[in-house]
Amino acid sequence: MFDGRSLTFRAILGPEGFEADRTIEIGPDGCIVRIVPGGPPYDGFIAIPGMTNAHSHVFQRALAGRGEAAYGEESFWTWREAMYRLANAITPEQLYAIACYTYAEMMCNGFTHVVEFHYLHHQSGGSRSLAMTDAIVTAANDIGLPLTLLPVYYRTSGFDGAPASFEQKRFVHDSVEDFLLTLEAMGDVANGVAPHSLRAVPPEDLVPLIEGAEAILGESAPIHIHVSEQMREVLECRERFGRTPIELLGDMVPIGPRWNLVHATHATDAERVVIREAAANVVLCPLTEAYLGDGIFQAREHFHASGFAAIGSDCNVRVSPVDEVRQLEYGQRLRDQKRARLATEQGVGVPVWSWLVDGGRRAAGYGTAALSCGSRADLVVLDEEGPTICGQELEVALDAWIVGGDVRDIASVYVAGQRRVEKGVLNGEPDIKTAFAAAMRAIWSS
Ligand SMILES: [Zn+2]
Repeated sequence: MFDGRSLTFRAILGPEGFEADRTIEIGPDGCIVRIVPGGPPYDGFIAIPGMTNAHSHVFQRALAGRGEAAYGEESFWTWREAMYRLANAITPEQLYAIACYTYAEMMCNGFTHVVEFHYLHHQSGGSRSLAMTDAIVTAANDIGLPLTLLPVYYRTSGFDGAPASFEQKRFVHDSVEDFLLTLEAMGDVANGVAPHSLRAVPPEDLVPLIEGAEAILGESAPIHIHVSEQMREVLECRERFGRTPIELLGDMVPIGPRWNLVHATHATDAERVVIREAAANVVLCPLTEAYLGDGIFQAREHFHASGFAAIGSDCNVRVSPVDEVRQLEYGQRLRDQKRARLATEQGVGVPVWSWLVDGGRRAAGYGTAALSCGSRADLVVLDEEGPTICGQELEVALDAWIVGGDVRDIASVYVAGQRRVEKGVLNGEPDIKTAFAAAMRAIWSS
């Protein structure tokens, strides 16, 4: 006898596509026990799997609008100076307030899991403490957004191996051993490991870092790295090592299914073949890559060649999975001057949402497919009366949402079978907006 709860929808987006009239039975642990045929009354119109946000630096939510003035050649690197100013000012209490607000925004917009690429480790001035880590973990817990925490190893300021600069002091560990002490001190809250980039991690540190992290976290923990994001990064790496960052990475460590290459924007055709042969994931951050002027990943080719990919909100200048997916598809259209670049005969919504949900689960270290037996019941329920969806046939609704919709088309969001968001509002929402605004004023008035 089934003793959990059940939810019935007009349709669900399962691993094989849309299935009409389905009841999802959910066990006391919040995981799906069974999916069976079911009819009215419905609990909602279309239930799609919640999206994993596979790459977030939550503190950067405070940065929107900074670094926009043009002084000559405006670029990623001037934005980074503004980011350093924020990183050096922010307190653990302010980080908690910003993280609560941002994680709530994520959930309201359809992210049901976040992978936090956490490099703001130390106190202002560089003294050691886990207060910043605690702020992030507590915020995710308080909001109810499941978190994969990836502590980041960061040592140098460039490919020449120069020591990290004064502005980077809160990010930096002196050695792999030093970092592993931090990782060990974090205990169960650390779920994976992230060498920041090959700019920040000397190649000879990679093997001891991965081996040391495996000894603490186990051999299935996900590994993430920023790689091939900017052309300047690629050029500097070639100059120093005679190889691109992705070539250098592959020469230093065996890349495999646990590896997540964040951005990989400038991966060459041959490098994308290597990534696919290794069954590694790429983590695309389309809004951030557009915002920073990084470039456009060859997503069409990678998608149609069955490569793995996830999406992340990265700098959190805008927090919305549907906007990320739209930017990804529209970027390909603008480059190619053609429509439907990631679409199949099923349209754009079904294949692309499913592709990125699957990649997001890989990035977070999950094995099972979304919306299948044993997976956590994380659902985004589209609203039959939503402004972009109303009056549309079932088959068109998800495409309509991808090309033109937003949070107003979301009726509810479930995490582990619990309805956490209703009509864009977090259930039992604490006073997170006031605390967020106070933190923003304090940071930028100082
Ligand atoms: Zn990043």
